[in-house]
Amino acid sequence: MNLFMTQSEWPSASLARFPDPSQILVRTAWKSPSNIALVKYWGKFEGQLPANPSLSITLSACYTETEVVCTESESGAMEVSFLLDGQPKPAFEDKLKTFCQSLLPQKPFLKGKHLWVRSRNTFPHSAGIASSASGMSAFCLALCTLENECTGALAKKEDFFSEASRLSRLASGSASRSVYGGFVLWGKHPLEEKSSDEEAFPVSWNIHPEFRGLNDWIVVCDRQEKAVSSRAGHGLMNGHPYAAERFRQAFQNIERMKMALVSGDWETFSFITEHEALSLHAMMMTSRPWFILMKPTTLALLDALKAFRANTGCRVTFTLDAGPNLHLLFPDSEKENVNDFLISKSGLNLRPEDIIQDKEGTGPERIL
Ligand code: ADP
Repeated sequence: MNLFMTQSEWPSASLARFPDPSQILVRTAWKSPSNIALVKYWGKFEGQLPANPSLSITLSACYTETEVVCTESESGAMEVSFLLDGQPKPAFEDKLKTFCQSLLPQKPFLKGKHLWVRSRNTFPHSAGIASSASGMSAFCLALCTLENECTGALAKKEDFFSEASRLSRLASGSASRSVYGGFVLWGKHPLEEKSSDEEAFPVSWNIHPEFRGLNDWIVVCDRQEKAVSSRAGHGLMNGHPYAAERFRQAFQNIERMKMALVSGDWETFSFITEHEALSLHAMMMTSRPWFILMKPTTLALLDALKAFRANTGCRVTFTLDAGPNLHLLFPDSEKENVNDFLISKSGLNLRPEDIIQDKEGTGPERIL
């Protein structure tokens, strides 16, 4: 799909008419990646502030491209019209509109504007591969470009990305981390002076070459929209009997993860990564009401992976986001072994289209 909008591509039926080119004030497009958390964010306070710091790797193959065209709004009120893959998506549109309206007191340049948004994801949304992170960060990066074109306030690169991360956090917490490439920390932690609950930062640590360019092959166990959204899941951490201990564990795991990443300690890296993934899902299973996002294929894969690793010593570890799809993390040297595992040894008849071959990426890119 060619992303850039023309008048004729905008479906006219129930939507307001796409503006005449002479009415366009600003037009921009951003490509922004998803990310996978190694130390998980699950539980938050008022204002989208995280209950614990989280650490992620930014991906490259899983991304969103979003184009935003800004005009004056005919009604005078702030409006958003949204297309996903060229089709109206009212639920996504409502979320973006509510978000933009919530920004009006701090972003007066949005007053009376109509944002025409067109977007596409390279991977299934709402399935635990963090389309909220790539989708919201792509949109917020575009908002920052609009702001800069309207006010000049974000001319410095550092200010631009800092604001993009802060806005992305307000839209969807983990989106704050997608604004930068590599290993990214969101949430105040004593280990990193610059760290903040308000925005994410790339870590300053000297990451061991073992962990650079790490592969993340995502096995799509289920493409359906998950039954419980992340937003609802976070809410269930309020009053959760294990919440306090979980938050303490995450703080500690950031510290242990840093030591593993800097020293090249694969065993510890693997242990913490898996422990974090299963702790996240344990929180879901022990919420009130409880819910389970893993599917039978997820569990079958975990069993098969454990046996394969014990037999081969393959350096592959796994994590799960808030969904059923398994992320396999491994260095380049294990590519053939992991491929062999998935295609021949897992016993699951996986098709190539069920596997997204992703890896550490360098972060977002302005494409228009
Ligand atoms: P996921 O695991 O994919 O992040 P969530 O349920 O947490 O699932 O988030 C999905 C939400 O992210 C959607 O309901 C929508 O609001 C938002 N989203 C996904 N893709 C896009 C996009 N391309 N543009 C804008 N918002 C998006």
